[in-house]
Amino acid sequence: MTNPILEKKRVALVAHDKRKKDLLEWVGWNREALAPHSLYCTGTTGKLVEGALKDPETGKPSVKTSITKLKSGPLGGDQQLGALIAEGKIDLMIFFWDPMNAQAHDVDVKALLRITVLYNVPTACNRSTADFMISSDLFAKPYNRKPMDVSNYLNRKIDLD
Ligand code: PGA
Repeated sequence: MTNPILEKKRVALVAHDKRKKDLLEWVGWNREALAPHSLYCTGTTGKLVEGALKDPETGKPSVKTSITKLKSGPLGGDQQLGALIAEGKIDLMIFFWDPMNAQAHDVDVKALLRITVLYNVPTACNRSTADFMISSDLFAKPYNRKPMDVSNYLNRKIDLD
């Protein structure tokens, strides 16, 4: 069974506090490329991303870009994103996590990164990977994602003795 990524992508955007500035610059730089897609953000990142999507000349919010704001990451937003991924509702993730500071919700961060690998969700954890991702032809095209084969796991024998 495949889980195709359609032309219009559902893009998760998350940044830890010390990485938010970098993500917002990246979003501002890529406003036009992101506009046709749907964005899903953890709470604080989402509020800031809305600002970064404003037209720099008019200061008006982007009407083109759909943005869903979940709970703040440490308050369950990372887990909400993980659940959306498990349900096949996120196509790409851009997650600028902080490699220099311990996070109170470290277990949630680890779980989110694990679930993206399991469901073969393209994930960028730094700006250059995000640049490669957004400049790929595939960013504007459908892509036939092949999920990891978990049939052995699902059919495993459970010893109940
Ligand atoms: P935030 O959460 O966008 O609400 O700050 C980010 C995170 O997962 O730490």
